[in-house]
Amino acid sequence: MTDNEQPTAAPPAQPDTVAITAGRSHAGRALGSVLHASAVWQVDSLEEHRQMATAARAERFYGRYANPTVSAFEEAVAELEGAESGLAFASGMGAVATVVMALCSSGDHVVAQRHIYSGTQLFLQGVCPRFGIDVTFVDATEPGALANAVRPGRTMLVVAETPANPQLALTDLDELGAITGPFTAVDSTFATPIVQRPHDHGVDLVLHSATKGIAGHNDATLGIVTGAADVLDAVWAYSVLHGACASPFDAMNGLRGIRTLAVRVERQSASALQLAEWFESHPAVAGVRYPHLPSHPQHDLAKRQMALGGGILAIDLRGGRAAGKAFVESLRLARMAATLGGPETLVSSPANSTHVGLTDEELEAAGIGPGLIRISAGLEHVDDVRADFAQALG
Ligand code: PLP
Repeated sequence: MTDNEQPTAAPPAQPDTVAITAGRSHAGRALGSVLHASAVWQVDSLEEHRQMATAARAERFYGRYANPTVSAFEEAVAELEGAESGLAFASGMGAVATVVMALCSSGDHVVAQRHIYSGTQLFLQGVCPRFGIDVTFVDATEPGALANAVRPGRTMLVVAETPANPQLALTDLDELGAITGPFTAVDSTFATPIVQRPHDHGVDLVLHSATKGIAGHNDATLGIVTGAADVLDAVWAYSVLHGACASPFDAMNGLRGIRTLAVRVERQSASALQLAEWFESHPAVAGVRYPHLPSHPQHDLAKRQMALGGGILAIDLRGGRAAGKAFVESLRLARMAATLGGPETLVSSPANSTHVGLTDEELEAAGIGPGLIRISAGLEHVDDVRADFAQALG
C-alpha cells in the first residue's frame, strides 16, 4: 500500500468509532494528525495558478483559501455531525460572524434565541443592525416561538443554541429543523456531536466553538460549521474575504482532540450528572440545572434529543453574588476560567466576572441569577471534585 492509499472499510455507524476513523484522507499512513504549516503552495504553470485561484476551496494554493490539515479537521467534524461538508474558522465567533455575514444582506431579517452565548448576542444585537440586518430575539423554550417570528420572504436565518450558555435551556431541534424558508442554524458547542446531532433533526447548519469540547485540551482556538456542500461553498466564498480562517496548528490540535472526544464526553457527562444530583440535595444550593436531571424543566426534550447530558451544569447558590464569590475563591482543585469542555473542572461566576456591571434585575433579564455558577466537569475523579465543592460550600 502506498502512502496515499487508504484501506477500505465498512462505514462505521457509532460516533465513538467515527471519532477514530474520520479525517484521515489527508494523512497517508500517519496515524497522528499531519501538520501542513505552509501558508502557500508553489504552482507549476499559469494555467494551474488560474485554476487554483478560481476553484472553490482549492486545497494546496493559499492558506486563507484552504489547508490540508484544516481540511482533515473539517472532514472529521462533518462526518461526526453526519454532514456533507465542514468549514473551520479561527474561533467559534469567527464561525458565527462569518456565517451571518455570508448569508445575510442589508434588508434581511434574522430570528435568534434570546438567551444565547453573550458574544453571539452582542454580534446580532450590536453589529448586525449597523449593516441593515434586523434581528428579532425570542424565548426559544416557548414552543413555536422561533417559527412564529419568521417573516416570510424576509427572514434569511434562524439561530438557536442548545443547550444554551449558561442556564442550559434547550431548544427543540425537531421544531427548529421543521422551519422552512430561512436557513436554520444551531450552536451545538455545549453538546458536541457525541451528545446530539442537529442535522438528523433537519437543521441546516451546525456551529461549534471547537475551542471547547471538540478540541478539548485548552490548546486550540477554533470554530466550525457543518452543512450541505453548496451552502458551505457559498459561505467559503465570503469567508476568504472575511479572513477568519483556522490555523493549521489549531486544526491539528482539534483533530487530535477528536480522537478522544467520545470517551471524554462520556466521562464528563457521567461526572456532571453525579455532581448535579449531589448539588441538588445540598442546603446551600437553591437550584441545579442539568439537562438529564429529572428536575430540568425540559427534561423530556433533553432525553429525546441528547444521548448524554453533557459536561456542563449550572447551580444557583443561596446568598447571591457574595455566596458565588466565596465559593469560587475557596476552591482548591476546580479552577476559575472563561471556557469549558477541557480536562480540568472549571467554574465561572458570571455575576462576579463577565457580567459584574449588571444589576441583579439586569442579570435576571439576561437569564443569569446573581448566585449562578457555571461548572464544566473535567476528567479528574469525580470524588475529588465533589470533595472540593463540598469544602468550598462549607
Ligand atoms: N458559542 C458558545 C456556546 C460559546 O460558549 C462560545 C465561547 O464561550 C462561543 C460560541 C465562541 O467561541 P470562541 O471563544 O471559540 O470564539
